[in-house]
Amino acid sequence: MQLSIDITGLLVFVIGHPSPARRTMARYLNSGANAVLLTAGQARVRLAAAGFDAHTNDPAALPLPKLIVWVEGRESQRTDLAAEAARLSIWLTVENAAPDLPRGHVTLVGAGPGDVDLITVAGRQALASADVVLYDRLAPTALLSEWAPGAELIDVGKTPGHHAVPQREIERIMIERALRGNTVVRLKGGDPFVFGRGGEEILACRYHRVPFTVIPGITSAISVPAAAGIPVTHRNLSRAFTVVSGHAPFSDDELRHLSGLGGTIVVLMGVGTLVHLVSGLMRCGMNPTMPLAIIERGYSADQRTTFSTVGTITGRLGQLSLRSPAVIVIGEVVRVSSDEADGGLAAEGIDLAAIEFAT
Ligand code: SAH
Repeated sequence: MQLSIDITGLLVFVIGHPSPARRTMARYLNSGANAVLLTAGQARVRLAAAGFDAHTNDPAALPLPKLIVWVEGRESQRTDLAAEAARLSIWLTVENAAPDLPRGHVTLVGAGPGDVDLITVAGRQALASADVVLYDRLAPTALLSEWAPGAELIDVGKTPGHHAVPQREIERIMIERALRGNTVVRLKGGDPFVFGRGGEEILACRYHRVPFTVIPGITSAISVPAAAGIPVTHRNLSRAFTVVSGHAPFSDDELRHLSGLGGTIVVLMGVGTLVHLVSGLMRCGMNPTMPLAIIERGYSADQRTTFSTVGTITGRLGQLSLRSPAVIVIGEVVRVSSDEADGGLAAEGIDLAAIEFAT
């Protein structure tokens, strides 16, 4: 049976030593409980004193806990404490001890583009042994408590324009937990090193001499176009793709290089600067008929793909009311996904109707 109760402000005794009890302590403190870590012996002394003083109505009496969480100690001590708790009508629950750790470690895990099936096996294994997970807005979080059982889960998610937890603070929490001996997973959307500030996080680890591992993830730059059936390269259509951040507007110099390369342009974080980007690309010589696709919320139930061109998208923005997260793809490859062009196959001279199938 599972019971869900609000433990905000409640005094909770957690029984065990700091290392085996670290996960339990972190979770109770995170839930707002007034969790106190004690050994079994200390707890018995406190219960005896509190129980005794409570009868004398002494205002200086130590308060009785509402709940005792047994994590670790001798079996005989547990029996004694359970009897004492029962006598005082205090709930007692038993939780697993966290495994011993020689020292802390940070693992940067790329969680993929949001679908729970698109995280790597290595990423799942890292989560399964994590003590602490710091996760982002774009990481798949629905099953996190199942994937990282017993771990302290810290939401450091950012919404565009609103940095919930500043980057330096994320790094501080990550390093602090690792230096306490915890196994820390920093779970990030997509790939940790594609506009994910993963580089800054490993620099912080290196500076504080915290060992780290990086587990790559499926980046939205390639997978979100794929979710809409758009390959970022295609024979005879595009032999290069450039992934850019639209976070800040591009200079004319950058725009000239981008349009001059002739390959696919994939824009992340580009909804806010889209108008500036397409007008700049056309000014630098890009044909207004160049296909463009916008894929919003890739891999979610309400994924939406808009097909357009560099020349016409600006006029349609009013009706579209685009929302982040979205990936913008600019290039001939967009045709591969659109019906009217029969994809890039037509461009290669491949007649789909002529392909014969054995029946
Ligand atoms: N490290 C991430 C990118 C972080 S930048 C990666 O490799 O995927 C955040 C941007 O990624 C968003 O603004 C959006 O452009 C893109 N993005 C991430 N997930 C997305 C999704 N499921 N659908 C659409 N765009 C997504």
